[in-house]
Amino acid sequence: MRANLNQIFQETYRELRPRAPMPEFRVEFYAFASVNNTIRLRDSKVYVRISDLLEGAPDSVIKAVAHILLAKIYRQPIETAHTSRFRRYVASKDIRAKSHLVRQMRGRKRVQSPHGIFYNLEHIFDELNLRFFHGLLARPQMTWSQIRSRRRLAHYDPAHNTIVVSRVFDHSRVPRYALEYIVYHEMLHLKHPVKLRGSRRCVHGPEFQAEEKLFPELEKAKAFLHHL
Ligand SMILES: [Zn+2]
Repeated sequence: MRANLNQIFQETYRELRPRAPMPEFRVEFYAFASVNNTIRLRDSKVYVRISDLLEGAPDSVIKAVAHILLAKIYRQPIETAHTSRFRRYVASKDIRAKSHLVRQMRGRKRVQSPHGIFYNLEHIFDELNLRFFHGLLARPQMTWSQIRSRRRLAHYDPAHNTIVVSRVFDHSRVPRYALEYIVYHEMLHLKHPVKLRGSRRCVHGPEFQAEEKLFPELEKAKAFLHHL
């Protein structure tokens, strides 16, 4: 059990502002979707929310967070010892694994369904899996997007292990091979993971491209997408 969150903030405040009157602190742990800490000043009260992923962190880490947040809000220089203490802790294996899990649970998209009006994405995936991957790919969550986006046709979201396909493809005018190509492309992203996570960049290395050419209706599908 932690000594006292308020106490840590009061002490840190005193160090940063030795003569200023002590404000009232409301400090709590909060269930953010990732490591996130917020501070705001209202009616001379200081409201602080610290990611509950830091609940088990040593006092020195909480102290570092207090320093960073208070220095920021009172426009004081932030000591690098504190930022590096905090960064080192967040980068540690434990917290990274924990925050990945939490992101999966808390950040899960609310409406998720592979069932469309015309096409079922799970069936498409399973069929392609047998045809092209010997059934060896583990099926991620398959879901239609909530909006009918023409700009973002599909993407694989590694944080939620989900393939999202734009709902524009769930239509009688869309030939099956076009939708299959879209899903096949995302399956190749599953098979060839991009090392750099978090970036939206779609990386298609030489192996990826060679394998994409194995899709028989590739040219037809590309032509269809071009006129979508
Ligand atoms: Zn891609």
